[in-house]
Amino acid sequence: MNGKEKIIETAVCPFCACLCDDVVISVDVERNRIKEIRNACTFGVEKFLSVEKAEQRLKKPVVDGKETDYDDAIEKAVDILNAANKPLIYGLGNSGYNAQRVALEIAKLKKGVYDITESICHNLLYLELMKKGPFYFALLDEIRDNAQVVIYWGANPVVSHPRHLSRYSVYPVGRYAMRGVMDRELITIDVADSELKKISRWFLRVNPGEDAEIADILRRLVKGESLREQLTGEMDIDTLRKMADRLKKAFYGVIFVGLGVLSNKNGSKSIEAILALVDALNKEGVKFVLFPMKGHYNVLGAVNLLLRETGYPFGVDFSRDTIFEPGKTTVLDVIARGEVDAALIIGADPFSSFPMTTARKLRDLPIILIDPFETPTTQFASVAIPTAITGVETEDIAYRMDGLPLKLEKIVDCKYPSDRDILEQILKGVKKS
Ligand code: SF4
Repeated sequence: MNGKEKIIETAVCPFCACLCDDVVISVDVERNRIKEIRNACTFGVEKFLSVEKAEQRLKKPVVDGKETDYDDAIEKAVDILNAANKPLIYGLGNSGYNAQRVALEIAKLKKGVYDITESICHNLLYLELMKKGPFYFALLDEIRDNAQVVIYWGANPVVSHPRHLSRYSVYPVGRYAMRGVMDRELITIDVADSELKKISRWFLRVNPGEDAEIADILRRLVKGESLREQLTGEMDIDTLRKMADRLKKAFYGVIFVGLGVLSNKNGSKSIEAILALVDALNKEGVKFVLFPMKGHYNVLGAVNLLLRETGYPFGVDFSRDTIFEPGKTTVLDVIARGEVDAALIIGADPFSSFPMTTARKLRDLPIILIDPFETPTTQFASVAIPTAITGVETEDIAYRMDGLPLKLEKIVDCKYPSDRDILEQILKGVKKS
C-alpha cells in the first residue's frame, strides 16, 4: 500500500463455489474504488465491480413499500418474526458462515424451518448418501495432483464455474499429471453439445433421463460383463467399451456431477447408478472419486453448519420432533402446505427460482428480505434491508466446494451493514421480546 493504492494479492472471489483465492485486486484508497482485478473470470470481475452498479443495489431499508431507516426496518422484522407461529428462514448460499450461524440461531429460537438452496439443487445426492453406501470423495487439490481421467457429467463448468478446468481439473500441472492437460483425458456426458465437446476425448450425448442407463452399462463393462445392447443416444456399445477400458486403466479419476444429472426426473436413479459405477471402479482397484459441482459461493458453508449442528444437510423444521424429513420439512413443501406464516429470506431470490405455484403461496406471507441487490423478490417483501456485499464490502468465511474454509476479504468500504450485523440485531430483538 503506498497511501493511494492498496494491492490485495490473494483475494477470494465470492461468486461461485470455486472460491478462486488467487485474485489480485488494486484499490484506489482515496477514491475507495477498485482499479484493477487480475485472475478472476468475467463472473468474478462482475461480482467485484457490482459495488459500483448503483442501479442494481437495494439502496435504503423499505417497510411496506416506503423507504425508512435501519432501526425501523429491524423493528418491523422482529415484529413479523414474533407474530409468526412458524417462520421460514431461507437462502444463505450467498452469505458468509457467520451470517449463516446467526440465521440458524433465529430459526432454532423461533422453532422455524431453516432451509437452503441445496434443498432444491442437490437434495437427491444427499438422500443417496444418507443410505450410507461408500462415498469416494477428495479435495480439489488431490484431484488436481492426481486425476488422469476427468469426467464432467451433466455439468458445463465453462459457463457455470469458468476457472474450474484451469485451476482444479483439466489444465493444471499436478504431482502425477506433470504435463497438465497432456497427462489427462476429459470425458463429457451431457444431454446437449457444450463448449467441452472440442476438448473432450469422448463427448457422450445422452437423451434426457438416460444417465442411469449409461452409468449402469459402464459399471457392468468395468466389472467385465460382455454386453450386446445398442443405445438410443449417439454412442454405441463399442465406444462405451473403450471408455470403460480407459476408466479401468486410469491411475486416478474423478466424476464431477452437475445439475444436469440431479435435476432431471430420473435424477435419483441416475445418481444411484453413478455412485455404483464409482464404487465398482474402486473395487476394481482404480481410485475414482465423485464430486458434486456446487453453485453459490458458500452453499457448502450452510451445509456444513447444518450437518454440524443438526446432523442433516438441509431443510430442518425445529417445531417437530423429527426435524428432517425431505418432502415434509423442506422449503417447497412447507410453503405448499401453508405450514409457515412468515419468511426471512437472506441473499436469495425465490421469486425467480421457485415453481410458480409455490411462489404464489409465498407471496401471501409477510416476507423479510436481506440482500445487497434488488431482485424480483424485493417487490414482494414487507421489509427489505440492504446489506454490504460479502467478500467485497465486508469480510466473512466461506467454504469452497470441497469443504475448504477460506476467508473473504473486505476490499472497499461501504455505507451498508453486513447481513451478519442485521441478523444479529434481529436475533437480539427476537430474544428481547
Ligand atoms: S471461477 Fe468462480 S470463483 Fe473463480 S473467478 Fe470465476 S466466478 Fe470467481
